[in-house]
Amino acid sequence: MDNSQFVNRHVGISDSDQKQMLSTIGVASLDELIDQTIPSNIKLPAELDLPEAMTERELEEHIAELGSKNKIYTSYIGQGWYDTVTPAPIRRGVLENAVWYTSYTPYQAEISQGRLEALFNFQNVVTELSGMELTNCSLLDEATAGAEAVMMLYNERSRAKAKAGANVVFLDDQLFEPTKAVIRTRVLHQGMEIVSGDWRSFQFDERVFAAVIQYPDALGEVHDYRSFVEKAHAVDAQVAVAADLMSLVLLTPPAEWGADAVFGSTQRFGIPMYYGGPSAGYLAAGMKCKRTIPGRIIGVSKDVYGHPAYRLALQTREQHIRREKATSNICTAQALLATMAGFYAIYHGPDGLKRIAGRIHAYTGYIAEQLKLLGYTVCNTNFFDTLTVELPAKVSTESLRACAEECSVNLFYRRDGRVSLSLDETTMPSDLGVLLYIFSSALDTEGEKTIEEEISQTRQYFDSSFARQSSFLQHEVFNSYHTETELMRYIKRLERKDISLAHSMIPLGSCTMKLNAASELISLSMPQFGNIHPYAPADQTEGYSELIDSLKHYLGVITGLPGVTIQPNSGASGEYAGLRTIRTYLERNGKADRDVVILPASAHGTNPASAVQCGFQTVTINCDERGNVDMDDFMAKTEENKDRIAAMMITYPSTHGIFETNIVDLCRRIHDCGGQVYMDGANMNAQVGITNPGFIGADVCHLNLHKTFAIPHGGGGPGMGPICVAEHLIDCLPDHCQGHPGFDATQVAASPHGSAGIAAITYSYIRMLGYSGLRRATQVAILNANYMAALLKDTFGIVYTGATGRVGHELILECRNIKEASGIDEADIAKRLMDFGYHAPTLSFPVHGTLMVEPTESESKAELDRFVDVMNCIWKEIQEVVNGTADKTDNVLKNAPHPEYELVADEWNHSYPRSKACYPLDYLRSNKFWINVGRIDNGYGDRNLQPTFCACEVHL
Ligand SMILES: *Cc1c(COP(=O)(O)O)cnc(C)c1O
Repeated sequence: MDNSQFVNRHVGISDSDQKQMLSTIGVASLDELIDQTIPSNIKLPAELDLPEAMTERELEEHIAELGSKNKIYTSYIGQGWYDTVTPAPIRRGVLENAVWYTSYTPYQAEISQGRLEALFNFQNVVTELSGMELTNCSLLDEATAGAEAVMMLYNERSRAKAKAGANVVFLDDQLFEPTKAVIRTRVLHQGMEIVSGDWRSFQFDERVFAAVIQYPDALGEVHDYRSFVEKAHAVDAQVAVAADLMSLVLLTPPAEWGADAVFGSTQRFGIPMYYGGPSAGYLAAGMKCKRTIPGRIIGVSKDVYGHPAYRLALQTREQHIRREKATSNICTAQALLATMAGFYAIYHGPDGLKRIAGRIHAYTGYIAEQLKLLGYTVCNTNFFDTLTVELPAKVSTESLRACAEECSVNLFYRRDGRVSLSLDETTMPSDLGVLLYIFSSALDTEGEKTIEEEISQTRQYFDSSFARQSSFLQHEVFNSYHTETELMRYIKRLERKDISLAHSMIPLGSCTMKLNAASELISLSMPQFGNIHPYAPADQTEGYSELIDSLKHYLGVITGLPGVTIQPNSGASGEYAGLRTIRTYLERNGKADRDVVILPASAHGTNPASAVQCGFQTVTINCDERGNVDMDDFMAKTEENKDRIAAMMITYPSTHGIFETNIVDLCRRIHDCGGQVYMDGANMNAQVGITNPGFIGADVCHLNLHKTFAIPHGGGGPGMGPICVAEHLIDCLPDHCQGHPGFDATQVAASPHGSAGIAAITYSYIRMLGYSGLRRATQVAILNANYMAALLKDTFGIVYTGATGRVGHELILECRNIKEASGIDEADIAKRLMDFGYHAPTLSFPVHGTLMVEPTESESKAELDRFVDVMNCIWKEIQEVVNGTADKTDNVLKNAPHPEYELVADEWNHSYPRSKACYPLDYLRSNKFWINVGRIDNGYGDRNLQPTFCACEVHL
């Protein structure tokens, strides 16, 4: 094995392992296995045209070179992105720490207490700064959070309003442009109407159900919206407020002047701008919205022994349960970034935040005064950190811009000739001197300003009625970890409670928890990629452009669908963008009345939810006993809806882990009916380099770059869900407003290139593997799954295999017979796995009563064998219950996981020894993952969960 080749670092299986594994499976070669797995009519006839693989060392140099093509200017552009300081202990301890970035969404609460606590802290930061009662633990960005807010308020209309069909939402002109654009994209097909204008002159009437305003607004002005909110409430309309979290440190929180929902970005809480993303969006609301607020909510609950424990709350309203009835399609969010923002607030504490916000404000005030003295008109009366300036007649935008760019400074140049600037945490007195130099040189007056005078940190540049009176972040956690030592240990303390890829394989079917190589992640810590504003001029972002253009090209080659956008920030967001693209295409071709999306019963919950979000109806096709689309049902339902079919959504290989042999026929049939084929690309890890959606016949697919293409899961995000489309759909792809008004297209995210900052991970993955490495990764993913299937088929049994008895890149383990025989169910097995230091496979999806295992190509044979040993050990424990050697209720499975405090307690009340609970296999004696809570009882009920520290009285 040549270790200088990255493929041998990424793929866990050596040639000799492979030989043994193939013989276990019972095939002579890897090619034979692949031939038995993937239908021959969809195999690509030729190699993919991708660049030769780079070594890790070559890549590092290449990334540095790309980075050097991005120019770091001081950014005062604002409009939703601000320069910020990521505290070094958070960068090193969280962002660069595999335990934090490789962990999965905290569905298995007992081994996720660390990130659950971190996200709970984030919720507290948002609720306290906004003054609201309830928040989720992140949305994708500010603009999508705005759209989610509008939809939430639509769903929360009073009965009378709903009955009267009130469907108008008012958008104030001074919202950030992407917020307006994305709200427009998202709500028009929901039967809502948008009215835009100036909030001061807007007349509410009965048709209005909601209004959206911004605080401070896009020009930087802080308005007194009290009477506006009263007018809204008088007609039973609700008000959503976009608010900058940093400004709320100094300003009266929106909840205190009547807001019904508050949303925005938490980017400036320590997350680099990354050319637009990723960072965490937030949405806060009143308790009354608990059933309709989208996204995940963490609550404090109890474990079986009554110990406090965190878990996800209110899951029954999520799309994986409610499917087409869900109020949102959001699945992957921005957990890692929310975690970092929470730690930022913890590190600085309320006083530190006040100092930071106060300094930003004071410097902005100073600049405002100086600009006025120079003869500029500052349009703001009350402001926090943003000024909008009118230029005197003798100063042209061009000359000001030339002066600014000469000083490596970016301002926001409005189309109406005004200029806006936003100061931030990184602004220093010397920067103020440069700013004033720029504005005075543009006037041709004497420049060279050094700031000598003391800038008053106490003066307020807004009316005292706006000043925040309420305290915030008084809880101990925000007042204990202000030294680096304390913060470092707090981060470590939480980290120790979580299982991640740094501990063991995470065999989550459909989620593809593969290696996220350190060499793919280096750019995340480089200022050349971090400190770039998404609206920076093109000549400053050549590195990003080159990277993004190449990435799009490679993804087009890999999927066989040449039109690509990387704007969507998650898989579900990609689904929405893809369906919107189809919708635009149908509208432009006189087929706007096509409104049905066909999908199989096995579809992921986000599929039906996205279809409905896009204004379609869903028709569900049954699956047959082999797990394939039931052809009779498919033919009947496509016939019945022939003239109404807009699209079929299909996952391939199916969510049952099978390459259906008739996929090409399914696609053809949909085309014959006049519909488009949408392929959910979550399972691309079984296709890359061997087949592809374009070749199979799909028109659109999204990719989960955080699954197949090596972006880490981050405990529930960031994600990246680019869509790839066929030639005829390229013109219909989402576009972007670039921050300017008058835009009317189909923008789906706040930033032009979505989470551009993590695009380099996938780019690096593709560059280091090249065509043959990518293909090998796919082959080994299939090899590993079939190897495990061979070893587990005689005990648990495999629910679905393909026509030739093979599985794809994942396998579904049967647990339903076990339950009948022993009362042990799939959840007991999942919890028992924790005692062995493993994260459970995917539970009860897509088939109830089963576990779906996806080993991925990155795991070694030793790790696969260990997992099989563990499953065999659990199998034996189940047999003990079946044959009566173990008690039906007091057994290692029903009592799992066994928390440390129970294992070391003086008393031991079980019918089996401690050693059996704790060390069922020998390897555990040298590498035990200690769990600090017992089983968390989901039956304990959402009603008793607390979503914040202060919510002791309000229950969910
Ligand atoms: C993960 C997944 C999705 C949703 O992707 P997110 O990035 O979480 O929004 C959709 N479909 C399938 C089959 C998936 O596995």
